[in-house]
Amino acid sequence: GGRYLSFTLVRTGGSERQLLVVRDVSREMRVESIRKDFVANASHELRSPLTVISGYLDALADDASLDPAWGAPVLEMRRQTERMSSIINDLLELSKLESGERRHIERPIDIAGLLSLLRREAMSLERRPRNVNTQIDSEEWLLGAETEIHSIVSNLLTNAVKYTPSEGEVTLRWWTDDEGGHISVRDTGVGIAAEHIPRLTERFYRVDSGRSREMGGSGLGLAIVKHALQRHEATLTIESTPGKGSTFTCHFPQHRVVSREGVEAGVAR
Ligand code: ADP
Repeated sequence: GGRYLSFTLVRTGGSERQLLVVRDVSREMRVESIRKDFVANASHELRSPLTVISGYLDALADDASLDPAWGAPVLEMRRQTERMSSIINDLLELSKLESGERRHIERPIDIAGLLSLLRREAMSLERRPRNVNTQIDSEEWLLGAETEIHSIVSNLLTNAVKYTPSEGEVTLRWWTDDEGGHISVRDTGVGIAAEHIPRLTERFYRVDSGRSREMGGSGLGLAIVKHALQRHEATLTIESTPGKGSTFTCHFPQHRVVSREGVEAGVAR
C-alpha cells in the first residue's frame, strides 16, 4: 500500500531555472506488478501439464506397435510441445529477470572461454551457417552474473544462426577499450530493415511473424537480452543492412572489465 513517486528535473528554455516534476505513479506500479505476477504464475502453472503431455508423446514416439499412420502426427505434436515449453521457459526467465527475483551473483567471467564454448555448440548444430568464428581481442575478463551473460550471448548467437543461410558466416568477438568491454555477434544473414530495429527488444515483437515463427523462436529472446544487459548497466547496439547481415553489440561499462591476474590473485588469497 505504499506510494511511488517519480521525480524528473527539467531545465526550462535556456534559463538557469529548473523545474522539478513530481508524479504519483503508484497506480502504474501496481498494475505493472500485477501483470508481472500474472505472467510468472501462468507460465509456472503451464509447465507441469506440458511435462505430462511430453512424457506421453515420448513414449508414443518410441512405441514400436504404434500404427505407422500416427508416426508423422506424433512427431509433429512433439515438435509443437517442445516449442511451447521453450516459450514458457523464456517467459519464466524474463519474469525472473524483471522481478529481480533471480539471485544475481557476480563473479569474473572468462568471456574468451564462453565464446569458444558457444561456438563449439553452434558448430555441432545440423542447420547452421558454414562458419561460426570467434575473434578474441582482449585478455581481460568481465565481472557479471554468469548465467545471465551466458543467456545474452546464447540468445544473440541463436538468432544469428537462425537468420543466416548455410553459406553465410557468424562471428563472435570480445574486445576492451577506454569505454569498457564489448561482445559482438555479427552475421552475414538476412538483415533487418531500419524501421524494425528500435522495436526488436519488445516482448513478442517479430519482423516477419510468419517466417520467424517457422524458425521456432518465441519472440522473447531479445527482451531477455535487454533485461539481462540492464542488470549489468550495459547497453545493446544493433546495426543491420537488409540482405547483408546484422551486428548486435553489448557494451559493458569499464568497472566490469577485470584483469585475469587480478582474478587469479583473488582466488589464491
Ligand atoms: P525470436 O525468438 O523470434 O528470434 P527475438 O526476440 O530473439 O525473437 O528476435 C526478435 C526478432 O528480431 C526476430 O523474430 C527476427 O525477426 C529479428 N532478428 C533477431 N535477430 C536477428 C538476426 N541476427 N538477423 C535477422 N533478424 C533478426
